[in-house]
Amino acid sequence: MLSTEVVIIGAGAAGLMCALTAAGRGRRVLLLDHANKPGKKILMSGGGRCNFTNLYCEPGNFLSANPHFCKSALARYNQWDFIALVSKHGVPYHEKKLGQLFCDHKANAILDLLLAECAEAGVELRLNTSVTEIARLESGYQLQTSAGPLACQSLVIATGGLSIPTLGATGFGYQVARQFGHTLLPTRAGLVPFSITEPQLKALCTELSGTSVEDCLVSCNGQSFRENILFTHRGLSGPAILQISSYWQPGDTLHIDLLPHIDLPEWLAAQQRERPNSELKTLLAELFTKKMAGLLAEHWFVSKPMKQYSPGELKAIAEQLADWQLVPAGTEGYRTAEVTLGGIDTREVSSKTMESLKSPGLYFVGEVLDVTGHLGGFNFQWAWASGYAAAQYV
Ligand SMILES: Cc1cc2nc3c(=O)[nH]c(=O)nc-3n(C[C@H](O)[C@H](O)[C@H](O)COP(=O)(O)OP(=O)(O)OC[C@H]3O[C@@H](n4cnc5c(N)ncnc54)[C@H](O)[C@@H]3O)c2cc1C
Repeated sequence: MLSTEVVIIGAGAAGLMCALTAAGRGRRVLLLDHANKPGKKILMSGGGRCNFTNLYCEPGNFLSANPHFCKSALARYNQWDFIALVSKHGVPYHEKKLGQLFCDHKANAILDLLLAECAEAGVELRLNTSVTEIARLESGYQLQTSAGPLACQSLVIATGGLSIPTLGATGFGYQVARQFGHTLLPTRAGLVPFSITEPQLKALCTELSGTSVEDCLVSCNGQSFRENILFTHRGLSGPAILQISSYWQPGDTLHIDLLPHIDLPEWLAAQQRERPNSELKTLLAELFTKKMAGLLAEHWFVSKPMKQYSPGELKAIAEQLADWQLVPAGTEGYRTAEVTLGGIDTREVSSKTMESLKSPGLYFVGEVLDVTGHLGGFNFQWAWASGYAAAQYV
């Protein structure tokens, strides 16, 4: 039976970082993945350019039932450490906005650098390999795999969450955690578009499909994000919507300020004073696209010349635009979600080493843990940081 020091299951962001770092420390590392290629999500990420970290990464950018858990790992391998690795490989990158760092060219530059580091450190990568059984030995673990049995001292689970099954996502990590006595927190799709079924609202979204509104403030459950929203034929998407989806529970109302940069009561009063004969939809076309202005006027208001509105009507218009309230039917689910919220309860994992507090020698890294970042490069930073932390101890 093949015996090695470290087996890592999952050659995604966290598994690759853990592998190259542990092998760099001189450990014998075998990295397994059931997929035919490593790092598929890295290649798909950031619209194909991989938003690999964020300049302003802080623990406050992460959701977890145990918000302190991520602090230690994020401090020990931070955004500057990953930027140094990217720079070492001469990969050109830029800040798109809000501290989000993207490759100038394609996301494969990030995967290639991780694979180059793995190769240099001597990581053995085995693809198309699935693990059917794991048993604990007196010291270490024994695995039955599609390529035969294996034994190792340290076993790292880096199999990610449930998002996008077509990219190789499975619930394997949760299964292993359960087998070794871990508590699982309920999982749900995060950073995901909303679907809308209420007929009138759905018609509005469908008609505006593809239209983006540049600066909106979207709020739910005490959280707000100010960014674009995008109408889709299924409902709503865009960065502000994806961000708030991680805080949304079924039945919750979303509040959307479509014009947070404008004092609407004052603006409407000024229009009524200065352009009394202009129709509302003509004026709204200066703030939105002409099509959107026309549709909003049709769905929400009676469009007429400004001089014909009573103060009460103007107040209602201002309120509708500044606090559009809607209850989505649901999210698009794991099919399109960027991340999985919930997962392995971090209260049963060491925040310093990522080692299981239930089963020595077993480690969990990356998205399989109940740590989920905001949109903007934070999820990869968690993958790098947690993978690096475990690699110091495996
Ligand atoms: C479309 C999309 C775009 C994204 N864009 C960004 C972005 O720009 N910036 C950002 O920070 N985050 C982004 N994310 C989120 C980010 O990709 C993940 O948070 C991150 O990849 C998690 O890393 P991980 O290593 O924990 O898991 P993954 O990267 O998902 O890796 C898990 C690996 O485990 C393997 N695996 C699963 N089950 C098994 C099994 N049973 N046996 C063997 N192997 C298994 C999988 O094949 C995979 O290779 C995006 C996600 C998606 C879906």
